[in-house]
Amino acid sequence: MKTNTPSRVAEKRSDSTASPQPLVSCQNVTRQYTRGKKSVLRQRKATQTVTALDDVSLAIDRGEFVGIAGPSGSGKSTLLHLVAGLDTPTRGLLSIDGTDVTTLSAKQRTRLRLETIGIIFQHFYLLSALSARANVAIPLVERGWSKRKRRERATTLLTTVGLDDRITHKPSELSGGEQQRVAIARALATEPDLLIADEPTGELDTATGGSILDLFEELSTDHAVIMASHDERALARTDRVIRLQDGKLIADA
Ligand code: ADP
Ligand code: MG
Repeated sequence: MKTNTPSRVAEKRSDSTASPQPLVSCQNVTRQYTRGKKSVLRQRKATQTVTALDDVSLAIDRGEFVGIAGPSGSGKSTLLHLVAGLDTPTRGLLSIDGTDVTTLSAKQRTRLRLETIGIIFQHFYLLSALSARANVAIPLVERGWSKRKRRERATTLLTTVGLDDRITHKPSELSGGEQQRVAIARALATEPDLLIADEPTGELDTATGGSILDLFEELSTDHAVIMASHDERALARTDRVIRLQDGKLIADA
């Protein structure tokens, strides 16, 4: 684990624009899922409630590289989906960059997500028919950028992640690590304050996963990076690890 000395944190935070509130704030956040099950015998609908996140409170600042740890089913993806604005809590308060997301409409949450957050999924979700460059440019179409500007920006981003020689390759022509880098470049396209990655090194070999972690560490100097993982070696690279068990926060250090 990197030692998170006060001076390191102060140095990182002073780089970014000073903001009085944390970038992400969860207060007593609970997320329950209800599964409906029709009971043939009783002729009525039986429901089962799963508490995926249970009364979780935390705050994350700009400049932090935070790991979310816990066994499968402990609530890591649920927490990331909430923080990404893809889902809303059943109870509790959740604010992103000072905006209470629990009061926003789905459309407003989508806008906040497009403006503030970049998401990297475990399975990359690249479009197979498009080149690396066109995949990276997708979020900029939404922004109304011209084709020429989109291409320029996508090329710069692919260079940043070390793929300047893979710009016109299709996903099927790239290795797993290269595809993950394309997904990272795409997440960075809109200059998000917050990068969210769900098990980003899960399917990569140790060396490739290590280079993805190098990139996150570098990015966390001016973005907040939140990474769910059950790989202790990956977690050791973060500034701070939040541990979940059965939806409860059991450690934050
Ligand atoms: P992790 O990412 O740590 O593996 P998840 O956040 O995916 O954990 O899941 C936490 C719990 O919530 C699990 O018991 C899972 O089955 C349940 N869960 C997650 N998403 C849903 C859903 N959409 N509907 C019902 N249950 C869900
Ligand atoms: Mg998960």
